[in-house]
Amino acid sequence: MENRKAVIDPGKCISCGVCEKVCPIKVIYPVYGQFDSAGSELEITSFPVLDSAQCVSCGECARVCPVKAISMVDAKPVIDTEKCVRCGACVLICPTGAIFIPEEKDS
Ligand code: SF4
Ligand code: SF4
Repeated sequence: MENRKAVIDPGKCISCGVCEKVCPIKVIYPVYGQFDSAGSELEITSFPVLDSAQCVSCGECARVCPVKAISMVDAKPVIDTEKCVRCGACVLICPTGAIFIPEEKDS
């Protein structure tokens, strides 16, 4: 048996999810968060907030939230901060920048 294993370069991974889908024994799985180019997790200290005017009601943020903290109410996302683990997935997926971390927008 060949003595080799897969290693993911976090600086090159674009989070497409193909490896997760095709792995026959499901040993690759996503972790949610924001990472620097070396793969180190960045600390997010604020909850994401919504700029309704920018939201096009696509629902992508609700779809990707790993803890189901986002509900679409009257076609706009509402974030339950009791459930939100501040992973940043909704911020990354939003096509218009309508969901954002306040501290990032201010900097
Ligand atoms: S930051 Fe993560 S946990 Fe919080 S609402 Fe967005 S996707 Fe859900
Ligand atoms: S992903 Fe962005 S544009 Fe789509 S529903 Fe969520 S906040 Fe609105």
